Amino acid sequence: MSTIERFNEHVMPTYGRYDLVLENGGSCVATDENGKSYVDFGSGIGVNSLGFCDEKWADSVCAQAKKIQHTSNYYYTKVQADLAEKLCGITGYSKIFFGNSGAEANECAIKLARKYSFDKYGKGRHNIITLVNSFHGRTLATLSATGQDVFHNYFFPFVEGFVNVEANNTDDLKEKLDDTVCAVMIEFVQGEGGVISLDKDFVDAVFSLCKEKDVLVIADEVQTGVGRTGKFLASENFGVKPNITTLAKGIAGGLPMGCCLADETCCDVLGKSTHGSTFGGNPVCCAGAVAVLERLTEDGFLQGVCEKSEYLRKKLMSLDGVESLSGIGLMIGITLKDKAAAGVCKACFENGLLALTAKEKLRLLPPLTITKAEIDKGIEILDKVLKNNT
Ligand SMILES: *Cc1c(COP(=O)(O)O)cnc(C)c1O
Repeated sequence: MSTIERFNEHVMPTYGRYDLVLENGGSCVATDENGKSYVDFGSGIGVNSLGFCDEKWADSVCAQAKKIQHTSNYYYTKVQADLAEKLCGITGYSKIFFGNSGAEANECAIKLARKYSFDKYGKGRHNIITLVNSFHGRTLATLSATGQDVFHNYFFPFVEGFVNVEANNTDDLKEKLDDTVCAVMIEFVQGEGGVISLDKDFVDAVFSLCKEKDVLVIADEVQTGVGRTGKFLASENFGVKPNITTLAKGIAGGLPMGCCLADETCCDVLGKSTHGSTFGGNPVCCAGAVAVLERLTEDGFLQGVCEKSEYLRKKLMSLDGVESLSGIGLMIGITLKDKAAAGVCKACFENGLLALTAKEKLRLLPPLTITKAEIDKGIEILDKVLKNNT
């Protein structure tokens, strides 16, 4: 039996998958079981921030695995201290909780915000405002937080206490930001929702209204964080600092990790025994994350991300089938003129280019280390697919 047949017989059918078994990665190109190669414009949904199997990253992960691969959180490890110190240094946050995924990072943020309010004001101030068309994860609480009705099926009852406000609608926000609310949770660029940036005016309104009412701002930077937008955090593009920021996807270069970063107002709210995770802050994953941070803080690295973004966006706009682009940095939504994104994405895959979709758009999240030559190769394939009439 083939890999795909064995897989489908024994793995739950929760994903629509392409018929592709990836076997090896090297830089920003991967190869399948038959040796066919694929240029990577998806980075495993924004995860492989340094591409596949970056040598320094692999060295530091392997070295840590050979020293100690896990301890319980009853003990300390040096590598978790190194990572926490580095990450706080880069972002200006005070303290971090380590989990294993984006959804878990957001669960931590939700619990933290509710406890912050409970400790200070008592019961009844537990609601969290999230935005229409947001995406915050697949656990019950984060599904409930997600502002899209298509996610609110089958699994009833959902978690109470989430109120949706229309993105960029300040009047709607003002109306719903009452004294039952403890936090407002936003994505600066809605990723799964279709790569849509928030307006600067709306972001400013969120921050000033929340400050006025002692309501925490939570930024879900699971997709936008860790250099994706050309800044370490997407919030830097808007000149604001949320009380809480969550990171996951790109943080450990391919290993599972979710981080909930809190500022001085709320970094000590989650005390002993209020939250935890067996695998959270795993030393091997921390070693991967330290390698990612070391690369991203090298001189000129993030400037390079901005330059690559400009280069790629210019090339994309010169293609016949492209109507317009959205997003920031190397988080790119493409509105196509007359072709459906899903079909184009599939044809790209057949021609050796890995891309993504988000709603009606083609979505690109290339590794931050992608080269101009690799961009050219990917653009060549996309151009061919867009020109093809079938
Ligand atoms: C991917 C994503 C999540 C969920 O992350 P998981 O690691 O799949 O749990 C949450 N929020 C945003 C904005 C995301 O893009």
